[in-house]
Amino acid sequence: MNVLSKLYPYLYKYRVQVLLAIVSNILLSVFTVISIPLIIPFFKILFEGGAADIPVVDQKGLSDAQIYIQNSFTTLIETRGKEGALILICLVLIGVFFLRNLFRYTALAFMTPVRNGVVKDLRANFHSKLLDLPISFYSKNRKGDLISRATADVAEVETSILTVIEALFKAPIIMVGCLLFMFYISVKLTLFVFVLILFTALVMGSLSKSLKKRGVDIQSSLGELTSTIEESINGVRVIKAYQAEPFQKEKFETSNYNFYQFLNKLMYRREMAIPMSEFLGVTTVIILMWYGARMVFAGELMPEIFFAFVFAFYQVIEPSKLFANAYYTLQRGEAALDRVLEILNAPIVINEVADSVEKTDFNSEISIQNLSYSYEGALDPALDQINLTIKKGEIIALVGPSGGGKSTFADLLLRMYDPSGGNIEIDGVDIKKLSLRSLRALFGYVSQEAILFNDTIEKNITLGAESSPADLKSAATIANADSFIADQTHQFETVIGDKGMKLSGGQRQRLTIARAVLRNPPILLLDEATSALDSESERVVQESIENALQNRTAIIIAHRLSTIQKANKIIVLDKGKIVQTGSHSELILEEGIYKNLIKMQSFD
Ligand code: ADP
Ligand code: MG
Repeated sequence: MNVLSKLYPYLYKYRVQVLLAIVSNILLSVFTVISIPLIIPFFKILFEGGAADIPVVDQKGLSDAQIYIQNSFTTLIETRGKEGALILICLVLIGVFFLRNLFRYTALAFMTPVRNGVVKDLRANFHSKLLDLPISFYSKNRKGDLISRATADVAEVETSILTVIEALFKAPIIMVGCLLFMFYISVKLTLFVFVLILFTALVMGSLSKSLKKRGVDIQSSLGELTSTIEESINGVRVIKAYQAEPFQKEKFETSNYNFYQFLNKLMYRREMAIPMSEFLGVTTVIILMWYGARMVFAGELMPEIFFAFVFAFYQVIEPSKLFANAYYTLQRGEAALDRVLEILNAPIVINEVADSVEKTDFNSEISIQNLSYSYEGALDPALDQINLTIKKGEIIALVGPSGGGKSTFADLLLRMYDPSGGNIEIDGVDIKKLSLRSLRALFGYVSQEAILFNDTIEKNITLGAESSPADLKSAATIANADSFIADQTHQFETVIGDKGMKLSGGQRQRLTIARAVLRNPPILLLDEATSALDSESERVVQESIENALQNRTAIIIAHRLSTIQKANKIIVLDKGKIVQTGSHSELILEEGIYKNLIKMQSFD
């Protein structure tokens, strides 16, 4: 029942519907139980043929209950006549079955929004949690596996756990009702049946025992499968260019085959359950018939009452099978739920302090003291004891060999990670004290690769920010994007394809610059915005960067001399340390990394 407590917060929201479903199920059970004795007079009239008189029954072997049922129906037949009694009984039966099925439907109907709602809420929480989790989380988890948890595992929660929960509302009530009726008719026969049921439940239970472990295997192997598909789609261009199709196909084949085998094993077991339970069920009924028939011969049981008893027993079989399975079905569902909750409960290590400050302006300086950062498991720190002050209005260029720690520095400014040592202050306030929203709103960030969504140009630039068409237009103009946007079939309404694949590299980069400029942030943070471009689009993007720099503070990670020369201060980062600082004209005279970097560039 541990699993119920895990799911409780999700179910609680739908408590009204759950309550209504329980009430419906109680009514369903009541009408199921009522319908059972009603078949007695029906059979009684049939067995005794059209004879007008009612034979006097030898009552000495019968229980009091049987005598009572017997007598009350005899009275009915006597007052109404056989025909009349038959019609009355038939009408009542129809009515009872109508009500029984009506409540069966309302029970299901009330549960439907609960089942689908729990799944919807789980998915929504999962998705928003994905957005709240820090960047570091994504270095440790595979995308495909996460997608699989959000879809397949959540679906498994619905099919196993919620099905069991639904059944748990219904099964016990029907079982208790039927068993009470059975006890009422014959204690001896009911006890006999009890032993049979227990035996069946044990056999069925042991069969489903191994289903849980298989469930875990299946869900995680499905995650692997999804990951490979996702990687194939993302990497299709490289896979083709390097003729890596066979390699990728084989990789997929392996996880696909694993999945196939796990699924086979699960299904062999699961499919065995159906014929086996039918066989066990029928055997039980036959044994019951044999035993009951002997009681009828011995005069201890009326045949028509025996029929009703068998009918009641038949109603007990299904729910008791369900109970036998419930525990293990729950466990299988719990395995899936755990995979979902593992993400939902993953720690968000980048937290806001309780009384976080909203900072909307940048007035004096960013000051960085003894800043260090080490990635988890890395031997050397990516940043080591960085000290730096960036004054308002300055343009700072960060240069240095690849792997020097430049992107890490940008990530720390945006608080994608928290420093391992030292701190960053903006206007004298530690960035950890700012709300994440207001900290990040101070920066217009352009990442190393252009990150675009399969949406319109406008939506890609605004990303949800409120903006007038004039703002949009001017951001596009500053980013040098206005002319190519005008050439698109639907201008700002043009959908640019997955990751912006319908645009050229330079066009993509210019959209990301327009995005950074649109919100008019006081500080621009550009991470090698031109590194992936050919020289012509680089020149255009360069121009758009220069436009964007007007009247702003900027931190530019760059490797092109043209960008660097504009900087007030150049910082050379190597192996996580600042090795040189100064202006271009100063640094070019020093022996060192900067001079070598410039020498390697052929354009000047
Ligand atoms: P740059 O942007 O200057 O090329 P980075 O800041 O990206 O350099 O990387 C600095 C160092 O940190 C490199 O040695 C790199 O291997 C390492 N690194 C970068 N990102 C990660 C990560 N997510 N996990 C572990 N190590 C990383
Ligand atoms: Mg980088």
